[in-house]
Amino acid sequence: MIVARRKPAPPLLAAATGKSTILVAGCKGCVAVCGAGGEREVGLLATQLELAAKRLGQKRTVIRATVARQCDPGFLPPFDNLMEQAQACFSLGCGVGVQYMAERYPGKPVFPAVDTVFAGGSPAAGHWEERCRMCGECVLGETGGICPVSRCAKELLNGPCGGSVNGRCEIGRDQPCAWNLIYERLSGQGRLKNLNVITPPKDWSRAGAGVRSVAREDLMP
Ligand code: SF4
Ligand code: SF4
Repeated sequence: MIVARRKPAPPLLAAATGKSTILVAGCKGCVAVCGAGGEREVGLLATQLELAAKRLGQKRTVIRATVARQCDPGFLPPFDNLMEQAQACFSLGCGVGVQYMAERYPGKPVFPAVDTVFAGGSPAAGHWEERCRMCGECVLGETGGICPVSRCAKELLNGPCGGSVNGRCEIGRDQPCAWNLIYERLSGQGRLKNLNVITPPKDWSRAGAGVRSVAREDLMP
């Protein structure tokens, strides 16, 4: 899932200055799951925007609305009427959602209300961690299912680096060394011979340049 966090309020409130009608647009996808951009957060931001206007003695209407996914343009039409009324939108979608909103409503400013941070998961309640940098050339099959690109501080494809101590990374003892984890995993599977193979430099052309896309003809109408 995409992990994001709420932006601090002051710059958002500053961007809203002078806007009498604002749409606060949420998303029920990843950003809702990580507590950054779902219906609850829409309500919080909308209330902040209303109170800020009240403090300044201004009249402001804040419209609250949340769709299933902002990263899929097919889910955006419910915003159409609301955006006709609004002078600006604060989108709590991830960076993808904000861009689709801005594309659909090019005549009005769409401000991101969250910072999109990484693709990861939630190993414990209230905790999210990065697990994939979407490099386009997955090596998990060779590394025991542990990603060296996102989990090694130096993104080493051949590790460890020599700074690992007692299974911890040299950049911080609170962080496990990804290559130690890979060693342990491969050892448990009887596949340590994988470490004798030098992985060549990554072919970053596989990651794509410019706008990356994936086309699946079997899923097209
Ligand atoms: S190797 Fe690349 S695609 Fe695979 S998990 Fe790591 S970053 Fe993601
Ligand atoms: S100590 Fe391990 S995780 Fe840290 S940079 Fe070196 S190889 Fe990567």
